[in-house]
Amino acid sequence: MRRRASGLLLAALVCAPAGAELKTWVDERGHTHVTDDPAAVPEAMRGRVADEPDELGELWHDGLRGPPLPAASGETSSDADRAARLLRGAVDDLGRGETARASAALETVLRLEPGRAEAHWYLALLDRQRGRFDSAESHLRAFLAGAGDALEPWRASAQRRLRELADERRLAAATPGSDAALRLHTRTSPHFQVRYDAELGEVRADLADTVVAWLEEAHARVGERLGVVPAEPVRVVVYGKAAYRRAHRDRFSFRTVGFFDGRIHVASAAHPGGELRSLLHHEYTHALFRERVGSDRPLWLNEGLAELSERASRSQAGLTRAERFRLQGHGAAGTWIPLARLALGYGGLDDAQAKVAYLQGAAAAAWIEARTDRAARARLLDLLGQGLDADAALRAVVGADTAGLESALQREIASEFATSGAAAPAE
Ligand SMILES: [Zn+2]
Repeated sequence: MRRRASGLLLAALVCAPAGAELKTWVDERGHTHVTDDPAAVPEAMRGRVADEPDELGELWHDGLRGPPLPAASGETSSDADRAARLLRGAVDDLGRGETARASAALETVLRLEPGRAEAHWYLALLDRQRGRFDSAESHLRAFLAGAGDALEPWRASAQRRLRELADERRLAAATPGSDAALRLHTRTSPHFQVRYDAELGEVRADLADTVVAWLEEAHARVGERLGVVPAEPVRVVVYGKAAYRRAHRDRFSFRTVGFFDGRIHVASAAHPGGELRSLLHHEYTHALFRERVGSDRPLWLNEGLAELSERASRSQAGLTRAERFRLQGHGAAGTWIPLARLALGYGGLDDAQAKVAYLQGAAAAAWIEARTDRAARARLLDLLGQGLDADAALRAVVGADTAGLESALQREIASEFATSGAAAPAE
């Protein structure tokens, strides 16, 4: 997400829709829980629960609920029992926000038992979250085809979700909190479906052409750097500034100019320039990350890559010397924020910490980019998408886990300013 004006990236990429407040908390075993039921949060955790809205907030409004899973009939190695165990594990993973691992397990279930209705149900949910609306629709249709009598009550729910997907395509009516007066026109291009505020189009007849050209440029350039492109066209909504505020004022506690929730939403000036182009490159990177990885985490990598894309769109490579000098100071002063902490979200940081967090993410992503080629970067995203944890994926691709990468990065930055008398670069 992109915070307004200050260029800061705060909180999660995605907010829960207004009215479906999600709580995230971590129990004694270190397991992360996501719930929209405040009563499910233990008394001792209330008030300490992360205020950061969770990525799962964008699922269909009844959230993670799905058909009851049959109990595994034992520890046998039959495909049916394996599938049942995998399904249970996948649903537990979903509850903990381990979406990539859940997705991999569900795909395995379908290899063991093609047509297994429950797996299609949860994959539809995950695809909807990733912005893969066509694939979500085919999973829902497969669910309906495969759901037996026992799942009858869920068939109505699946039908409703299909109707909601159709609404997503019509979009104007489905934009959360949108003002009824918001009129949207559509423009499609090879890799995007853009809905834009009709009022903007009246001010600038070339608005849609300009936005589409910038998006296609982002598709080509980010694809060139990261070696991956989305499987389906990415959906984008462009609002005039007032319309954006009306539509999304309840979603965030601070002013934003853009975010991704399965669609890219951005606010545009009446006569947009480089700032909108950069913003589209930034949000497109988030869309691509979510689509390939299936979640927004590790967030430092996601925000770092988005920031590098944004800078690349302005022909700026990586961090400036002044920014690296600032990071060196935080390393020395002990105010460097561990990347492992930033992996889950940027919530709970004050403004100053958020600035550091955002620089650290960009520096760490640049460290990775300097040591990988396009194919290796694609592999990193695909390993994360297959459910490998971030440390294992990083080890496989850059030979260091999060902590190892972090200390190498800190050493590298420190060495740049190690010479005594090195002057602080001008800001
Ligand atoms: Zn962002």
